[in-house]
Amino acid sequence: MGRNVAALSACAALAFTFASWASAASKQVPLERALQRLTGQTFSVACLSKAEFGQARWAGITELDSPPRIFLAPQTCDALLRRAGTDAFDRAFAVKTLTHEAGHALLITACEYKAESYAMTNWQRLYRMLAHASPTPAQIAYVDATHNQLPPQYLSPGQFC
Ligand SMILES: [Zn+2]
Repeated sequence: MGRNVAALSACAALAFTFASWASAASKQVPLERALQRLTGQTFSVACLSKAEFGQARWAGITELDSPPRIFLAPQTCDALLRRAGTDAFDRAFAVKTLTHEAGHALLITACEYKAESYAMTNWQRLYRMLAHASPTPAQIAYVDATHNQLPPQYLSPGQFC
């Protein structure tokens, strides 16, 4: 499709230091409301600044605490918030990422397969809530392509499943 498929994967953290982020990360109320409509539960969603994110390689991460907290990478937030330099493909991938993290939070699991399965089933619904329009066939094909290139633990049950 003439476009590099994003290699970034989403992940859940069990033992990670989030304390330094909790105060500085920027809370995203509209995203929290959309997730509440999607899941029926309340999760905190925050965007990390480029300084906080540093050289990390993930797109989103979920702290499986009580209640779970979702942190998003700067490029994920840029796409979700339709900032300059992002496009419709970035947006679709970012919505799938957020849905994946919601899967971790909703199912309270570190299993990548379960979170990714939840994401692939539900991301188009969340996209419609956020964009007030359905994803295009090209966006759906792009998300499918990124999904198919994920590491094995996302595609079949592995550790923590
Ligand atoms: Zn994950």
